[in-house]
Amino acid sequence: MCLIVFKLYKPAVNIHEQLLLTEPMRHYYAQTMRTLITCLFLLAFVPVALPQAYDLVIESGRVMDPESGLDAMRNIGVRGNKIAHIALEQLTGKRVIDAHGLIVAPGFIDLHQHGQDLDSQRVKALDGVTSALEMEIGKPDVASFLKAKENKSLINYGSTASHVAARALVLGAPISKDAILPKSGAATNEPASAEQLRRIEDRLRSELDSGALGIGMGIQYTPGATRLEVIDIFRLAAERRLPVYTHVRSAGRVEPGSSIEAVGEVIAGAAISGASLHIVHINSSCGKDALECMAMIAGARARGLDVTTEAYPYEAGMTYINSALFDAGWQQKFNMDYHDLMLPETGERLTKERFEELHSSNQAQLVITFSNTMQVVDSLIPNPLVMIASDGDKGHPRNAGTYSRILARYVRQQGTITLLDALRKMTLMPAQMLERSTPAARFKGRMQEGADADITIFDLNSVGDRSTYQDPMQPSVGVQYLIVGGTVLVDGGKLVSNTYPGRALVVPMAR
Ligand SMILES: [Zn+2]
Repeated sequence: MCLIVFKLYKPAVNIHEQLLLTEPMRHYYAQTMRTLITCLFLLAFVPVALPQAYDLVIESGRVMDPESGLDAMRNIGVRGNKIAHIALEQLTGKRVIDAHGLIVAPGFIDLHQHGQDLDSQRVKALDGVTSALEMEIGKPDVASFLKAKENKSLINYGSTASHVAARALVLGAPISKDAILPKSGAATNEPASAEQLRRIEDRLRSELDSGALGIGMGIQYTPGATRLEVIDIFRLAAERRLPVYTHVRSAGRVEPGSSIEAVGEVIAGAAISGASLHIVHINSSCGKDALECMAMIAGARARGLDVTTEAYPYEAGMTYINSALFDAGWQQKFNMDYHDLMLPETGERLTKERFEELHSSNQAQLVITFSNTMQVVDSLIPNPLVMIASDGDKGHPRNAGTYSRILARYVRQQGTITLLDALRKMTLMPAQMLERSTPAARFKGRMQEGADADITIFDLNSVGDRSTYQDPMQPSVGVQYLIVGGTVLVDGGKLVSNTYPGRALVVPMAR
């Protein structure tokens, strides 16, 4: 329009000539003049180089994308919540981050995060994590979880539908919305009747309708669930074309009830139903038999089953001491004793008396379980089928340190995983797992044009965990910048306050 006005105005005329114009012509030129002034005014507000004006530019970093194999110096242009451009040439933006000498990677995705509180999210962000989801067990009420997190979350979140919670609800011992596991009792240890099983499935269907990303089954926490109940829940997941995430029925070498039997049970569930299966924390569920469990998973995959797994890089686990996991026989089963249990707050090692007091209590007390060796864990983590997930919650160093520990221990110190492979385990593989539930995950875990701008920028020379069993919430170091959906959340190694860019990952309604 402005160009047309320029053309129209061209024949007109200096101020003297205007005096000779007729009234309608004078009116016409005055009108044209006004439009021209408006156009010039508007043009003054258009940036000179509009196509290059990104909201954020990350300059001169070593950009790594595990899917395409990109590992080179590039400049990144972020517009809104998306990676708009990845280029060799210089880009201009409203804010420019100098990433010279730093790794620019997709934000880490943690499929197994119980601590969804802000304190936990702060240490996750400083550990490089941009998405942390409760997939193992699932929140007991997905709709209220999602609502409570809306615009109040530092990083992205999501949940499975909880079989444990649905079962506890139907069997008369509902879990409060802040907890995830029930106390050991009739609701966990008795079989469900056919009618109860129907109601458990109804509850799970309604949780899936609320946006849950699959079904979470903590089978070890519901020993009363029969083999048939497990298969029926797998069938329900398959009917909705969603995966089952599971903490398998048992651990240890004692038969019946070994970890080998437990892994076999869920692989059979996947084979019978057709549901995808993700076995959580293979390091703690299989302990010293972890490598054999990996061989079982590899075998199932070779036969065409969709079975995946994850591990965290610590020798100790952590769980609730009043749960069914510590019902009679646990010492023989896990080859552990009272002194292998430690209270995270005080470092107190348990005795028989103290154990019995805490196991029978209604109080949900966490306990650290020294159940594995670093030798087993170190041989497990580099396996190409193992993705990294933290099983994080307050009280265990894995909450704050898992991802930096992978980079420090396995990439930098031991050299048993390449940097690109470590990133694959922490970004692309979990994103691909989530793609089984939601197409939104196709834009996660990638440094590609069009992907979500969830980006971790760290110094490979200094990145490392600082959390310990004595000081579990000590944040990691080395993550210089963290970008969540285009918003800078960690800036120069420090958290930005009052910024809540985290968004929900959910199953689309229409599915
Ligand atoms: Zn677990």
